[in-house]
Amino acid sequence: MSSLTDQSRSDDLVQPFRLDPFALRGRLVRLGPTVDRILSQHDYPDPVAAILGEAITLAIVLAGALKYDGIFTLQTKSDGPVRLIVADVSTDGAVRGYAQYDPERLDSVSAHPGTSPSVSELIGSGYIAFTVDQGEHTERYQGIVELIGANLAECAQHYFRQSEQIQAGIKLSAARSGDNGAWRAGGLMLQRVPPEGGYAVIADDVEDAWRRAIVLMSSATAAELVDPELSPHRLLFRLFRDESVRVFRIHPLEARCRCSRERIANILRSFPAEDIAELRKDEVTSVTCEFCNTRYEFTAEELAGLAPA
Ligand SMILES: [Zn+2]
Repeated sequence: MSSLTDQSRSDDLVQPFRLDPFALRGRLVRLGPTVDRILSQHDYPDPVAAILGEAITLAIVLAGALKYDGIFTLQTKSDGPVRLIVADVSTDGAVRGYAQYDPERLDSVSAHPGTSPSVSELIGSGYIAFTVDQGEHTERYQGIVELIGANLAECAQHYFRQSEQIQAGIKLSAARSGDNGAWRAGGLMLQRVPPEGGYAVIADDVEDAWRRAIVLMSSATAAELVDPELSPHRLLFRLFRDESVRVFRIHPLEARCRCSRERIANILRSFPAEDIAELRKDEVTSVTCEFCNTRYEFTAEELAGLAPA
């Protein structure tokens, strides 16, 4: 059941849902100000911002498939103009991300006016990795798979096909569709997790229901996923009109970086003494957080004070 606060919020959220009677699980992610803030903190060209927006959305839909308490990170590393993408989401809904790209190579793939470069042109070949960090003294779970697919959603689906425990369908979209060209993003994921001991119903019925659900999900257009006028509930009920959709309590999301002066100081503390000595030749050393572009400055004396005990 939805609470009052759930109903008043239509952006920056995960809306979990279920399609009965076969308990197919799904999640709809809607991002408004959160993704606009993250993408606007950087001066990315639109194709880079769009793919980072999709990667952030993908990290959120995937994180929702896991039981964890900590940070879920998605990272791509590849040989295309966009060589690195990092997006992470914490259990309490803090989201952040950044991308690294080569402007000259990006210009050469964006050279055809009126067409936007495909994801494979932007990213090239490489890997996508998923990590769960539950804090110190816990194991890091990591999944890694080759980037195969025309877009990030297909790459993630390839991952699920390989891991074979979960069948999943994913759709992602990010575009400047908000007021004054603000960025918005949306994502849908459906998953089928066979219950322990198997289904108590005819397998063919489950198979049919699953296929139908995937077709219905796929009918969501990129524009619908990011439409600010289309509420999450309306979108779900429009897509799955003839199925029994049950919606659950939403999880709110916000753009929040975890960097702090103390964390940056800790990183500097881990540097070898000769590197710190080198940095101290400058009066002021500045360190910029890649996620949120916050600049932290350390004077030569402050750096001296960071020497390991
Ligand atoms: Zn930061």
